[in-house]
Order: sequence, then C-alpha cells, then structure tokens
Amino acid sequence: MLLDAEIKAQLAQYLQMMEGDVLLKVSTGSDKVSQDMLSLVDELATMSSHIKVEKTELERTPSFSINRLGEDTGITFAGVPLGHEFTSLVLALLQVSGRAPKVDQKAIEQIMNIKGEYHFETYVSLTCHNCPDVVQALNVMSVLNPGISHTMIDGAAYKEEVESKNIMAVPTVFLNGEPFGSGRMSLEEILAKIGSGPDASELSNKEPFDVLVIGGGPAGASAAIYAARKGIRTGIVAERFGGQVMDTLGIENLIGTKYTEGPKLAASLEEHVKEYDIDIMNLQRAKRLEKKDMIEVELENGAVLKSKTVILSTGARWRNVGVPGEAEFKNKGVAYCPHCDGPLFEGKHVAVIGGGNSGIEAAIDLAGIVKHVTVLEFMPELKADKVLQERLYSLPNVTVIKNAQTKEITGTDKVNGITYIDRETGEEHHIELQGVFVQIGLVPNTEWLEGTVERTRFGEIIVDKHGATSLPGVFAAGDCTDSAYKQIIISMGSGATAALGAFDYLIRN
Ligand SMILES: Cc1cc2nc3c(=O)[nH]c(=O)nc-3n(C[C@H](O)[C@H](O)[C@H](O)COP(=O)(O)OP(=O)(O)OC[C@H]3O[C@@H](n4cnc5c(N)ncnc54)[C@H](O)[C@@H]3O)c2cc1C
Repeated sequence: MLLDAEIKAQLAQYLQMMEGDVLLKVSTGSDKVSQDMLSLVDELATMSSHIKVEKTELERTPSFSINRLGEDTGITFAGVPLGHEFTSLVLALLQVSGRAPKVDQKAIEQIMNIKGEYHFETYVSLTCHNCPDVVQALNVMSVLNPGISHTMIDGAAYKEEVESKNIMAVPTVFLNGEPFGSGRMSLEEILAKIGSGPDASELSNKEPFDVLVIGGGPAGASAAIYAARKGIRTGIVAERFGGQVMDTLGIENLIGTKYTEGPKLAASLEEHVKEYDIDIMNLQRAKRLEKKDMIEVELENGAVLKSKTVILSTGARWRNVGVPGEAEFKNKGVAYCPHCDGPLFEGKHVAVIGGGNSGIEAAIDLAGIVKHVTVLEFMPELKADKVLQERLYSLPNVTVIKNAQTKEITGTDKVNGITYIDRETGEEHHIELQGVFVQIGLVPNTEWLEGTVERTRFGEIIVDKHGATSLPGVFAAGDCTDSAYKQIIISMGSGATAALGAFDYLIRN
C-alpha cells in the first residue's frame, strides 16, 4: 500500500467530490517506479467507482494519463505524483471528472480561446514547493482546451532524461520541445507568456488614482487595503503578486497565525485585496516615475498611469554573487532555492556561498540530500545564529571555508567547479563540484527610481516615520526601504503607515 491511512482518509473525502467517470491509462514496466505507480492507481480505483483503469503504452514508461471516457485530456503524470505533487493529482482527478477549476472566469475564457497545439512538459521534484503551481496551472489549461496537453515529469524517476536535457532547476517547462521557462509561474504568467494575457493598452486610459501602489507583496497589499478603506481611488501594480512570500515555505512568525506557507499567504493577501474596490494590475512592471501636475508611472509596456500619491513597495530580490560563470550557469548548476533544486543534486558535491542564516539553513538542508556540501564564507566567521552553526558542525558531510572570496564558477555546458581566493594567504583554490547555491542576501528593487527619490548607498529608499520619501506625494514601504529589519509583519506594518501617510498628505494638499 503506497498511501498511509491518514492520507487515504483525506483522499476518500476528496474523491467523493468527483462528478463523472475518469479513465486512467497506465503505461508501466517491471521497474520499482512502475510497481509503485500501479499500486497507487489500483488504490485509487478501489476508492472511487468513478475511476477506471486501462493498461496501455504511453510516450513515457512509467506514466499514466487522466482522461474523460472516450476523450483524452492530455494530462499525464510521468512518475508517481506523491509529495508536493499529490495535490496536483487530486485536483486533476476532480477537474477531469467535471468539477470546475477554481480560477477566474476571465482566465477560463482566455484559456478556451487559445488556438493551436501546445504540448507542455514540466520537470519537477516531489519536494519542490514551487512546482505544483505550475503543474496545476498547466493541467487546468489541458482540461479546458483540447489543443493543450501537459506532462509532469518527476526528475528522480527520469534521471537520464533530466541529465541529457541539462535540467538542474525545477520546475523547468518545455513547450512543444523547446525551453519555455523555469521557476514558479502562475496561470496568469503562463497565459501572458503565450500571448494570451490582458491587453496592456487598456491601462493607459485609466482615470487618475488617489493612491497608486507599486508592488504586490505584503507591504503593497497592506498599503492598498489601508488606502481603499479610506474610500479613495486605489490601484496596485505588481510584477508578480505575492512578492518574496511566493518563494517562502513555512512561515511561523506572522503573529496571530501559528503556521502558514508562502503561496497560501500570498493567496490570502490577494483575496483580502480583492475584497475592496482596488484596481489590481498584475504582471505589470513599473519602469519610470516622474512628478508633473500629478505623479506619473510608466510601465514596461509603455502605458502611463497617473496618481495624486504613489506608494513604492517593490521589495527585494536574491543578491547575485556577481562572478564569472554565475549568469552563464544559472539553472545549469547555479541555483538559489535549496528546497526546490536540492533533490536534483542528490549524491553530488555542491557549494553554498554565504554563511548567514539562509546560507547555513541551506547547507543543513542540502547535507541531507547531496554527497557533500562546502560552505564558502567571505568573512573570518560565520554570521548565522549559534544554534544553526552547531547543527551544521555536527554534520559529517559538510566543510566550512572562511575568508573565502569566490572568484569564478567554472563549467562547460554546466557547472564543474568553483574557484576562490583565500583572503588570508591570497592563494587561489579550485574545488570540483556540480552545484553552487548562492545565499548572500537580498538587493532592493529600486534601480528604476534612480534620480527620483533619495536612497541609501545600498539602494534602499529613505523614508520618514510617515513612510514619506524625499519626493512629496511619494511614499514607500517594506523591504525596498531603509527599515532596519526585513520581515513580513514589518512590511505589512510599514505598508499601513505609508497608506495613512499618503491619506494625510491628500487631505493637506
Ligand atoms: C526564502 C525567504 C524566506 C523568508 N521567510 C520569512 C519568514 O519566515 N518570515 C518573515 O517574516 N519574513 C520572511 N522572509 C522575508 C519576507 O518575505 C519579506 O520581508 C517580505 O516579503 C517583504 O515584503 P515586501 O512587500 O516589502 O516586498 P516583496 O515581498 O519583495 O514584494 C515586492 C513586490 O513588488 C513587485 N515589484 C518589484 N519591482 C517592481 C516593479 N518595478 N514594478 C512593479 N512591481 C514590482 C514584486 O513583483 C512584488 O509583487 C523571507 C524571504 C525569503 C526570500
């Protein structure tokens, strides 16, 4: 039996929600994954009379597809979708059975209107928390449009295929055999990428806003809600709604919520924003801000939005180490998300650059999967909390090198090593390895504001206690500011401050 009793009990409840019959077409051999797959499929069939099973030969063995009776939907799982992909399996069963997917009507119409043949393939690891979003979005597209099909491929079950395609980061998506994208992507992002997103020209004709928030992370969401609650015209522009929270696994310090997970928090932030009359412009990137009669914000697509006040909450992104090889081998051995990409380095030697909390957490996490982890810290001492350091030093397959200045990440078509300089002796060293995880903190997303608002030498926007910047009418909140600490609850608080500051400014001016 593949499923434990507790999961089976939960699954039974979900399967009761199936609305019609589905046919699982199973392609198996004599290997272990095939046996596990057969056992899973048989267990599913015993749990619901709506599930029928048929043996067949599919493009990949082992794999199984989920279909309506007499009609292929194009949804295939190559590998056993347990771990983080179990929800993807359950949702696919429900949706193929006729249960409507939980997506906007607008998105449903966009998907149904897509013309042409689109075959997506997504390489995942079962421990990747970013993968299910992509798998589920592409499965929904397959359910709704007969021209679209999607195969989820578990990298651990298809090691040779993963190696031959040089896939070293998940999720990695191919469309009709060509690379399409990697990393977390929402349904909206995928639709925009295949040219089916909302028409950008609609944006230019909007009436001016009272408050326009730029950035849709915790700070932006909080600012928009606080502004809208004052009954003023509020808009929010976000390149990717949710912000860094979308890349976060467990969150245990959002006071009042004992435990939540990043994507869950991002979804509830969006739900909360949607409770109010807030104009959400997602997947739009601001590129210029200028103060004229009003404040104008130009977007990448050329649209110009006008507003009486603006709140900047563009957050931060992973800091690059900035050495030769980093950009060249990104997703070819250079990675930033240990939870996502760690399993692809099973049995290999990797380095973690950075000895702060995130670097040491990453090293501990990776040590349980890979053969060996080398931590490279620039300073003479690790900066991580003592408790993390103790845990790290207790592990047998970790080496810590301090005073190490990374010089180059080497490779041919993928990473094969790292070169560093010992800052004490000036000597150069090379370590042969297959993966490098960069964990050296964050950099604020404020380059586009050059010459408009005052920033620190690190690029952080300088704000006063009302969240006001040096440019009257422009406020800022969250990780893009010079606040002493960068946390979700702090961003939310400063978003509220900036919105109240902006409202105060509107009353007085
Ligand atoms: C891996 C990881 C784990 C973390 N764990 C925790 C934790 O457990 N607890 C905790 O409290 N904090 C945690 N943090 C920190 C926390 O996520 C941040 O402090 C918080 O998300 C900052 O919120 P923000 O709204 O200021 O910025 P962000 O979350 O960075 O959001 C910025 C928003 O601005 C958008 N944007 C950027 N540039 C533009 C542009 N030019 N135009 C339009 N939109 C733009 C982005 O798309 C995004 O929507 C973690 C961070 C990381 C990376």
